[in-house]
Order: sequence, then C-alpha cells, then structure tokens
Amino acid sequence: MIHPERTPNPAPQAITILNKHPLNDAQCRRCGECCRKGGPALHRQDLGLFSGEKALDLCDVVTLRAGERVYDQVLDRVLPLEAEMLKFKGADGTWACVFLDAEAGDCTLYARRPAECRALFCADTAPLAAMYDKDRLTRRDLLPEGHPVLAVLAEHEALVPPRRMAELADILRTAGPNALGGAEGAEAAAELARMALADRAFRENLATRAHIGQEYHDFFFGRDARALFAAVGLTLREDARTGLRAQLDPLWRG
Ligand code: SF4
Repeated sequence: MIHPERTPNPAPQAITILNKHPLNDAQCRRCGECCRKGGPALHRQDLGLFSGEKALDLCDVVTLRAGERVYDQVLDRVLPLEAEMLKFKGADGTWACVFLDAEAGDCTLYARRPAECRALFCADTAPLAAMYDKDRLTRRDLLPEGHPVLAVLAEHEALVPPRRMAELADILRTAGPNALGGAEGAEAAAELARMALADRAFRENLATRAHIGQEYHDFFFGRDARALFAAVGLTLREDARTGLRAQLDPLWRG
C-alpha cells in the first residue's frame, strides 16, 4: 500500500500494489501481479516472522523513515511519512517482492505471508485499506531493548533527517537555476552534502566497526542518501573538493 516515491535512481517506478485492472474473481488466483508491484509493509501481526527456527533475515527488510516521501495508494498521493515503517525489499533492483518466485509467479512464504498480503485481494481492496496504516512495525520492534546500535540509529536520524532533505531541496528549487549562486542556496547545498557524507560514514562504520554487512544497511539506516535525494528531486555527485555535491535534477517531476 505504501511505496517510496517515484525516483529516477535507483529506478523504482511509481508502483501500485493494488491491481488497477482487477478481475471479477471470487477469490485470489495467486497470479503474483500484486507481488510484482511491491512487497508488503510489515505490521505488529508479522512480528512472529522474525523469531523462531524459520526467522526471516533482516537483510530482506528495508526501513522507510519518517519524513520520506512515499506514495500512499489509498489516498492516491505522495506524502511524507508520519512515522517510520518496514517493508519487504524488492528483488534485483526492482520493487517486486523479494519472496516472489519470479519464474513460478508464486510466493515462497505463502503459508506464513505477512498481514497485508493476507488482506490484499485485488477485486476487493477494502480489507487492506482498513488495516494498511495501523500497527506498523519499526526497527525498535525488531531490535532488543538496549541494543548498542539503537544509539547509532538515533544519531543517524538526527544528522540525516529525510524531512530536512525535502526542505533543503525546496530551498534550492525556489532559488531557481542560480540557486548555488546565492547564500541561502549555497548553504542548503552544503548542508545536503554534509548529510550525504554523514550517511555514507554511518554505513561504512557499521560495516567496519560492527561487521554488519551492506545487505543489512537498508534495514538499519533506511535507503541511502542517494535514493532519498532522488525522491526529492536531487542528484548526488562525487566532488573532488567537498566529497559529495547535491544538485537539482532537471528531469524531476514532483
Ligand atoms: S510475501 Fe508473498 S504474497 Fe506477500 S508480496 Fe511477497 S511474494 Fe507476494
């Protein structure tokens, strides 16, 4: 029901998990169409998936953080997220659910699929609409109380806040093509570059100091600065002087 906003990078489309052309079937045919359009957000009812013998691996989960722009399919609008949520990742650079067997078109988790998948039936989306924004899981639900990484996550939130990225992108856009010529535009661009560098440093530290591999970083820190910048119409470039530089994306349509 919720998808990160359309971004040119890393190329997720403005995907809708709801089938726009539902069949008049009496029950789900398990065609996989919805799964190809995106995995589910996770809810309190799904906590059991992450414990026990067959516990799912957190490398299959991505965090969407508060303030990120996402497409809310029920409201049919792109909105900043009020609070963070977790979602199954997409496979192979797409948003197709990582648990979809692409060849067979079948769910590899079907018997214990998450609550949204149980509620979703493309011919009648009312049950899903009634629950999609309730009791969402967050990172804290999946990390033990007092886990040392929680302090690091809080620091990352403070230094790399998605809401502030959107505000700074608006400042650059309002200033127009000469944004970087003015003091306000230059300061906004500098703040964005600091955020991107901080985001990169957090990820490198998680890998080198805590030995937590890259495949887990989208769970711990959410999508990286490059993806979040793209969602608010910015591109990120390597810069010999400052390390990283944020620019307006001329092709972006907000
Ligand atoms: S968990 Fe299974 S049913 Fe749910 S979106 Fe993924 S593949 Fe489809």
